[in-house]
Amino acid sequence: MSRKQQGQTARKSPLRTCVACRRISDKREVLRFVRGADGRVVFDPTGRVAGRGAYVCASPECLEKAQKTRGLERALKIRLSDDDYQRLAEDLRAVVYGNSQSA
Ligand SMILES: [Zn+2]
Repeated sequence: MSRKQQGQTARKSPLRTCVACRRISDKREVLRFVRGADGRVVFDPTGRVAGRGAYVCASPECLEKAQKTRGLERALKIRLSDDDYQRLAEDLRAVVYGNSQSA
């Protein structure tokens, strides 16, 4: 992948660190998870949900890793159950692979 340097003034999107692999990516290349006011963690494809956010690469592997290392929980200062992770993984898959079947 060869991307030309555009200089510092041309950078539009901020950079975010994946809580699983610690890789720094463009904001558009990571997924945002938000802890809402009710203590539930939701997947936020729009990036507009208010609340404490954490970022994971747009890949199921990194979400798995975030579960194993509890990096996501640490970043959001919350405990997540296996059910929570399953729900988030399904939401993630729907967005990453485009088969949105959430009803
Ligand atoms: Zn990652």
